[in-house]
Amino acid sequence: MIVVMERGATEENIQNVIDKFIVLEFSVHRSTGVVHTVLGGVGPAELVDPAEFKVMPGVRECYRIMSPYKLASRAFKPEGTVVRFESAAAGKVELGGGQVVVMAGPSCVESEEQIKQCAGIAAANGARFLRAGAFKPQSSPYGFQGLGEKGLQLLRQAADQHGLFVVSEVVDHTQIAMMEQYVDLLQVGAQNMQNFTLLRELGATQRPVLLKRGISATIEELLLSAEYILTGGNYNVVLCERGIRTFETYTASTMDIAAIPVVHKLSHLPIIADPSHGTGRRDKVTPMARAAVAAGADGLLVEIHPDPDRALSDGAHSQRPEQFAELMAQLKVIAAAVGRSV
Ligand code: PEP
Ligand code: MN
Repeated sequence: MIVVMERGATEENIQNVIDKFIVLEFSVHRSTGVVHTVLGGVGPAELVDPAEFKVMPGVRECYRIMSPYKLASRAFKPEGTVVRFESAAAGKVELGGGQVVVMAGPSCVESEEQIKQCAGIAAANGARFLRAGAFKPQSSPYGFQGLGEKGLQLLRQAADQHGLFVVSEVVDHTQIAMMEQYVDLLQVGAQNMQNFTLLRELGATQRPVLLKRGISATIEELLLSAEYILTGGNYNVVLCERGIRTFETYTASTMDIAAIPVVHKLSHLPIIADPSHGTGRRDKVTPMARAAVAAGADGLLVEIHPDPDRALSDGAHSQRPEQFAELMAQLKVIAAAVGRSV
């Protein structure tokens, strides 16, 4: 149930609506927009007549949300969510604002030298985040599993030296507290999109979460997974389209570019694109990155490596430094064409 308050509604008007929701056994989530405060009540909406709220002082409108996700729906925050990051080393950046935020780095932290080189390449070309896995959920148990906490320490150091924020994947809820020491944006990988224990625990923190779409998940399922985090009270959620599995085998996944404008219509959450895992081929990353930004993506996640042929994982879709430099140069043109900057 959504209650939109009048422009001049008082704090008392708002509190009365919150109290009514609580009496009706709803949990209440407040979204304070520039013009209107919106109150989202999650509970037995079918048992309550919206007219009960419509007649209350300061209430502009009230309606039931028909979609299965409530807090993730655009109605809850019509103006859109902006997830903000700020640190002494990296400055400020906003996801969901006017800038297309680029996150670049290798699949995994492999060594101090490798991650430092990646941070240098990322920063020199205008990326704002350094990405890399320290815990790798590989399809094969024989694949490189990552350096663990040591990898996170190297990642943080390299990022700080180059004024970058850090994004890295959390694979298990028991790692969250430890990872918060090193990571600005906690990534939930495609294989964990429906790890509901992990999602609930991430809802209990305030650390921003990057939620990747599962390879066989619908857009609705992605938004329902985001809902798990939002209902816990963590509204700092960013979605990621990373390709889905189809009958096509030439590329590792099929980039669902249409998911970007669809998510923008259905939800207030920012959405970025990962053309690296979305194609599995470094020669196809740049065209898909261009397409994603043209379609309105709020950012990009791109794998780069100083020497991809020797990468310990995902070398095939990691861009060489000069390819990444060219990608960033092209994105400036595309972003400007859709009224944004890189
Ligand atoms: C990654 O970004 O490191 C990754 C493994 O991607 P995905 O979860 O989308 O496969
Ligand atoms: Mn990878």
